[in-house]
Amino acid sequence: MASPPEKKKDALEEASVPIAPTSKNGQLAKKGSLTILRRPSSKNLAGRGSRHSSSQDDDAVDAVDLANDAPAVDNPDACEKAALRLRSLLRHLQQGEVPAAVLQQNLQFAADVLESVYLDEARCEEQQDRAITISLEPPSRKSRRVTSNDKSSRRQVGDEEDELSEVEPDAVPQEVREWLASTFTRQLSTSRRKTDEKPRFRSVANAIRAGIFVERIYRRLSSATFLQLPPEVTEILKSVDDWTFNVWKLQEASNNTPLRCLAYELLNRYGLLHKFKMPPATLETFLTQIEAGYCKYKNPYHNNVHAADVMQTMHYMLSQTGLMNWLNDVEILATLMAALIHDYEHTGTTNNFHVMSGSETAILYNDRAVLENHHICAAFRLLRGEDHNVLVNLSREEYREFRSLVIEMVLATDMSSHFQQIKAMKTMLALQDTSLDKAKALSLVLHCCDISHPSKPWHLHERWTTQLLEEFFRQGDKERELGLPYSPLCDRNNTLVAESQIGFIDFIVDPSLGVCGDLLDKVAALSVPPSTPTIAEEPQNDHLMPPVVAEPGGPIKRPVRPCGVVGSEVRRPWQDCLSANKSRWKERATKDAELRAEAALRNEKVNGDAEDSVIEDTIKEEDENKENNGTAEENEEEKTEENE
Ligand SMILES: [Zn+2]
Repeated sequence: MASPPEKKKDALEEASVPIAPTSKNGQLAKKGSLTILRRPSSKNLAGRGSRHSSSQDDDAVDAVDLANDAPAVDNPDACEKAALRLRSLLRHLQQGEVPAAVLQQNLQFAADVLESVYLDEARCEEQQDRAITISLEPPSRKSRRVTSNDKSSRRQVGDEEDELSEVEPDAVPQEVREWLASTFTRQLSTSRRKTDEKPRFRSVANAIRAGIFVERIYRRLSSATFLQLPPEVTEILKSVDDWTFNVWKLQEASNNTPLRCLAYELLNRYGLLHKFKMPPATLETFLTQIEAGYCKYKNPYHNNVHAADVMQTMHYMLSQTGLMNWLNDVEILATLMAALIHDYEHTGTTNNFHVMSGSETAILYNDRAVLENHHICAAFRLLRGEDHNVLVNLSREEYREFRSLVIEMVLATDMSSHFQQIKAMKTMLALQDTSLDKAKALSLVLHCCDISHPSKPWHLHERWTTQLLEEFFRQGDKERELGLPYSPLCDRNNTLVAESQIGFIDFIVDPSLGVCGDLLDKVAALSVPPSTPTIAEEPQNDHLMPPVVAEPGGPIKRPVRPCGVVGSEVRRPWQDCLSANKSRWKERATKDAELRAEAALRNEKVNGDAEDSVIEDTIKEEDENKENNGTAEENEEEKTEENE
């Protein structure tokens, strides 16, 4: 192996690289986000070409010390450095050999820089305000295209922007298309906080140690628990870890306080009551008040049962897929609390209704994510009161982290940000990177839990559908009173129920849960312990940490391999339910269409008969008139004759 090329001793790489002035290299990306030089046009690239032939640049290439550590990827001039290093590599390769390690190190650096630039650009695109129209291309076709070729997967993510604006007008009925478009795309975009923070995965060892810690505290303090759940409730909560959990049964058994019971149970089982020293009486008051807020408008759908349903589904995701292994206690608390409050004081009407009717809330939040802003604001306002502040013992840092996560997660339940969210997650998953944006990941999981009812067993899903449509119809009634046009699916005399659910499953729920599954796979894969586990330090591990969650109702453990993970993949219990429910809706759609056709035929016949009788009457009348006229004329003739 040839030795690395000699470097000019007095010319340190950092100093000798010409500092790229903005005039030459395009604009400098914003500081604080990713500070990479970007070259916006081919014109500049041409200019660059000639620049590199100059002796000044030759010097710069000569001055590169390939054996030296590369600068940080997010340095303002990382692009420039990467280019110089590649040129220098080329030169050395032409002249002779380059040590493999040096080659590898520099190619790695260049790859990292390129990846960062791509990520930066994806973010910039995402930040641009623009309306996105919804693609009604069947999801199977899309996913096939995205996964078909690894090489082009990144380009495809960028292309999705165009896919989203394709509209195939014949794919679904007009009304369903309008509903999907008005609900899951945004007319007004909101710019949300973007975190550049890429939290690294905790080691499994840490997670397990934390689990042991939680369990010990739980054992010590469990006698101090205050809320005595009725035995029927405790019985139902035994299946709280199941995807098929029946939240309506919990509602019945708990005398319409399912949210309070479930929230208490879960916060306790995750050890959060004890970890954050929540005062029992305060917790009781807080949960009672939250439940009351959900019942304020007596909504058929967006009520305390829906909140409990979303919270339980979130618990499934946390405990059965390994997601909780990736989170610290504040993050678990924020995730559960976000689910708990995500529709607090929901008015039973859509954001669009608030905007169109110019409600006080729409005025307050400038038409942006109106309800979501209210849920968050009202919940935090409640938490501020002394009687309700269950977070009183969080440190300032913990509270900041908690608040920021809850805000981001609940804002992301705004359905109009659906496509942006899915796109951003696909971009993140396509990168061969070991880091994931935690806030974005948790936001997507919450959004999926929020729209998950079509992926639950039929008897649950059908009931949710009926409740949701009743809520829509009540909005339609209000719209009629206010003289507003009906929102899609809100006219109780004219709505395609089965078709709307098929569209909802095909275009929204199925693709979302697909991406969510991929995300959970990645989390699970990255949480797998290294080949030499460092977790065997505690001899009691075995009985403290069985591989599967132990006795029902006991504290949640952080199992290395949760039972919802098979091999290296997270089990996806929603898939079977989704396809079974879709078939049932299809059957119903066919039946409905037949009924409609029959009714139309009947109407036609009735109208036809009516028309026939009208025609008959008209003919009769005409004949009579003719007869009368005839007689008159005859009389006239007779008169004339008489006169003559
Ligand atoms: Zn919701």
